[in-house]
Amino acid sequence: MSEKIALSIEDLTVSFDGFKAVDKLSLYVEKNELRVIIGPNGAGKTTVLDLICGKTRATSGTINFNGAELTRYPEHKIVQLGVGRKFQTPSIYENLTVLENLEISYPEGRGVFGSLTFKRTEQVTQRILEVAETIFLTEFLNTQSGLLSHGQKQWLEIGMLLIQDPELLMLDEPVAGMSVSEREKTADLLNKICQGRSVIVIEHDMEFVKRIAHKVTVLHQGKLLAEGNMESVQNNPKVIEVYLGH
Ligand code: ADP
Ligand code: MG
Repeated sequence: MSEKIALSIEDLTVSFDGFKAVDKLSLYVEKNELRVIIGPNGAGKTTVLDLICGKTRATSGTINFNGAELTRYPEHKIVQLGVGRKFQTPSIYENLTVLENLEISYPEGRGVFGSLTFKRTEQVTQRILEVAETIFLTEFLNTQSGLLSHGQKQWLEIGMLLIQDPELLMLDEPVAGMSVSEREKTADLLNKICQGRSVIVIEHDMEFVKRIAHKVTVLHQGKLLAEGNMESVQNNPKVIEVYLGH
């Protein structure tokens, strides 16, 4: 197998009371790759991310990430192994500033309360400034996060993951509810942050997918329906029938 493969999923299945939400799925993602997963509602996209991050336990199959078998580990251990996951709704601390939100997300495990007495080191400050610039929030570092726009909150949450420097970053519908200009900036952001790591994005907005995807995986009823570059997937009759044609 290629040395560039970072994430290798094989025959992954999860059954909820006999219903297979993910059914014998195999998926390989390289380092420096940005993979987009598309498919109709209920196809199993979110469940795949739940399985990778350990939120849901697989019924069978394997998830190998840089040599570690993730199906054996609890969620917190999977985070330590370099897997970051963003859920659909932002979970930032609205009453803290942007800077404070980034600071409490810095590794070395300080919680909200620990951060109050935490002495900012040069290294931490440097990293916070770097990430703030990447997520377009340099001018908002001292702004209370609750006052940010919906899109800015989404970026902040991406920043809170980036500050941990994950090797695999997973984002579930990151541009839902964003304005056109926020979508464009998010595409630039994702194109930048997939360098040096792997990124998996679930998304419905095909214009957005076109701007970011290296490769597209189409799921349908828990199974792989098609995979390839944007053009081949868009022209695939099976994909048009179950998804794009609607
Ligand atoms: P998608 O993200 O592609 O819209 P999901 O992965 O959320 O789809 O869901 C796939 C299917 O699995 C749906 O039919 C959903 O109802 C079902 N499902 C997801 N999680 C659970 C669960 N914890 N228990 C039972 N059924 C679930
Ligand atoms: Mg979903």
